[in-house]
Amino acid sequence: MAQRKVLLVTGGGRGIGAAVVRLAAARGWDVAFTYAGNAARAAETEAAAKAAGAQALALQADVADPQAVAATFAQVKERFGRLDALVNNAGITGPKSTLRESTDAIWETVFRTNVLGLVACCRQALDVLPQGGAIVNVSSRASELGGAGEWIHYAASKGAVDTLTIGLAKEAAPQGIRVNAVNPGLIETELHAAAGMPDRVARMSPGVPMARAGSAEEVAEAVLWLLSDGASYVTGALVPVSGGR
Ligand code: NAP
Repeated sequence: MAQRKVLLVTGGGRGIGAAVVRLAAARGWDVAFTYAGNAARAAETEAAAKAAGAQALALQADVADPQAVAATFAQVKERFGRLDALVNNAGITGPKSTLRESTDAIWETVFRTNVLGLVACCRQALDVLPQGGAIVNVSSRASELGGAGEWIHYAASKGAVDTLTIGLAKEAAPQGIRVNAVNPGLIETELHAAAGMPDRVARMSPGVPMARAGSAEEVAEAVLWLLSDGASYVTGALVPVSGGR
């Protein structure tokens, strides 16, 4: 029997990351994933992946902490002995604020998590992914929409994710590693409430061309396609999953 491939998802305890973990498990991957602090939700996701027939490993690790990132990759190597793909999903918005209201501390926290954490994971992955390996970065449509009045700091961090996706795709192509991004639009998760806007999805859904928010599962479908051999000639792509937004 062919060995199952191993996927690492950052921020896989809840939301889009958890949907990726569950779908990957159902599609034949073994899955390791990290979470920041919500152990109960991570345990639920881990149990769901195991119920789908996968080996699964939940690890508490702050992606903004380089030592925790290094430890994560070491634990994946110890447990699975291989890593075939990485989904850089962990991300935070920071609080709602205009640029004038925002502090350097907000910018630093958001960039340390969304950009530097992702860079640290990519570096580690490039050392271990095989030819045929893949990285998918979870960016955002905010990178082009701009986040005005809500979270320019967050949108700018996702602009950095878009650009480094394009650049790294070119650097990693000779190694046979594909690097792509999905750019979700308005997705129904707990992220909006965490930013202090629990009504954001309901308020903004009518303005989406498809007149509804998307689900975490709909984003996960695009991620799994980009990881699959079906996307074997796709690299450096930024794939909107946004209902036209
Ligand atoms: P979410 O529901 O808030 O879930 C975030 C997940 O990431 C949680 O499992 C959380 O862990 C984990 N996490 C947060 N900070 C972390 C850190 N420093 N280190 C490790 N893990 C961390 O968010 P989501 O809506 O699923 O968002 C996932 C990704 O999609 C983010 O990159 C976000 O920017 C992007 N995105 C979301 C939307 C949207 O509308 N929801 C739209 C565009 C892009 P705990 O469970 O332990 O807290």
